Amino acid sequence: MTSVSENQIKFILNLKRKGIKNKDVLSVMETIDRGLFLEGIFRDRSQEDIPLPINCGQTISQPSIVAKMIEKLEINKNCKVLEVGTGSGYQTAILSRLSRRVYSIERHEFLKKKAEELLLKNYFKNVTCIFGDGSLGMKHQAPFDRIIISAAAEDIPQTLIKQLKYGGIMVLPVGFSMEEQTLIKVRKDKDQTHYEEFFKVRFVPLVEGLQNIRNYQNG
Ligand code: SAH
Repeated sequence: MTSVSENQIKFILNLKRKGIKNKDVLSVMETIDRGLFLEGIFRDRSQEDIPLPINCGQTISQPSIVAKMIEKLEINKNCKVLEVGTGSGYQTAILSRLSRRVYSIERHEFLKKKAEELLLKNYFKNVTCIFGDGSLGMKHQAPFDRIIISAAAEDIPQTLIKQLKYGGIMVLPVGFSMEEQTLIKVRKDKDQTHYEEFFKVRFVPLVEGLQNIRNYQNG
């Protein structure tokens, strides 16, 4: 049995206080240490419910927002999931424990490599990390049961809706500026695609094109 630290119990209590109810999401988040995905002084703040800086000018998402997005995704162990924006790999790890298979795309080669190493080392084996532009999705692995996007698109990407199965769900932030983003859930049925809007959120933008390690190291 894995033992859970007192801090991790407080972390989960806070998620419950913020309205997270899904027992599977809570129990998986209880067992995954967010500190693993952070470095330096930020590791000490891993249990705070705030986004924190990672490399390449990006951020690890706020835990309660990760939990809310995954709740809305209605994920289960049979799902093949596409994640756009691997970042630190924290959300990837949670998705890995809740689904059958995760394909995660990141446009920063440096972040992709780091997250891939961490996930492998910590036995998240049903994950494939890809260095690529997630706004194009992953045609050769489509269709997906679920798609989750961790960066804000200006509009709902139709390319990604095409890569969803019928009955599939996509959750993503949509908006032009940091101040004007809304969390949206898309459900694709045979006859119609349904859109549901939730609360305001703040994510880094979904950027087209790739950033390889050499470019990053040269600034
Ligand atoms: N859930 C991640 C969030 C990382 S921030 C975590 O908790 O760590 C969002 C990530 O999306 C960033 O790493 C950014 O580089 C990536 N991103 C932005 N646009 C992208 C695109 N078009 N394709 C793939 N990744 C993208």
